Amino acid sequence: MVGKNDNVGVAVSGGKDSMTLLYLLNKIFKPTKVKLTALAIDEGIKEYRDPNFKFVKDFCKKYGINLMTYSFKKEVGKTLDEIKKKDSETIPCTYCGVFRRNILNKKALELKLDKIATGHNLDDEAQAILMNQFRKNVRASVTMGPITGIEDDEKFVKRIKPLYFLTEKEVATFAFLNGIMDKFVECPNAVLGYRNAIRDWLNEFEKKYPGTKYNVVASFLSILPIVKEGYKRSENRKRIRYCIRCGSATSKEICQSCLLIERLGIKGH
Ligand code: SF4
Repeated sequence: MVGKNDNVGVAVSGGKDSMTLLYLLNKIFKPTKVKLTALAIDEGIKEYRDPNFKFVKDFCKKYGINLMTYSFKKEVGKTLDEIKKKDSETIPCTYCGVFRRNILNKKALELKLDKIATGHNLDDEAQAILMNQFRKNVRASVTMGPITGIEDDEKFVKRIKPLYFLTEKEVATFAFLNGIMDKFVECPNAVLGYRNAIRDWLNEFEKKYPGTKYNVVASFLSILPIVKEGYKRSENRKRIRYCIRCGSATSKEICQSCLLIERLGIKGH
């Protein structure tokens, strides 16, 4: 996942997964030539993000890790709390995920990073695999895996997921036992998302049939190379294009981030 001289960005939210990832990568790569930069995005979720952001800053200071911070307010013109008020029909995670991915990629390009590491664990992946299946989202499925993307593109920084095979429980236990964090706060919007329903359902299944989550991910990985090849040859394949508004890599004329900004009626972005 990481080359000898790589410049790696670590996307951190202040949650147990990303902070465990940052802790481990720092421990592994500190004595090497690999350069780490923590990337934190303040979405503007008042009671949740403010304490988490302080935690990230203190953590990076303690371990001497370079930290870059960004915000929805500055990058898209509104906080997520403001977006929620403006569009109460749409689940906030829809805006949050798209804007965060877009900002991360844009900033990683500016910082000339080779990779962006994220704290996705086995539970996250099993949920995403099922969500894509249930929604018949083939394109999203083919971009998944421990190293994301279908093909290389100069405007798209590769994502790596070093915690890919660790369950949420394992990561939480590690974080707790190693004193990385002692309390876990969940985003208040998490309960509203489609993912939450899948998560509860999958947890129930795992309790009854242990090994379910691992089997979902392992069977997906065993067919992923075939699905990727098939998709690359398919006539319906969407080629990488560049958004006519912001220049981001996208599969459409206008990227999803610009479409959502337009939907919110935000001027000047
Ligand atoms: Fe954003 Fe939704 Fe995650 Fe909250 S739960 S941080 S709104 S994606």
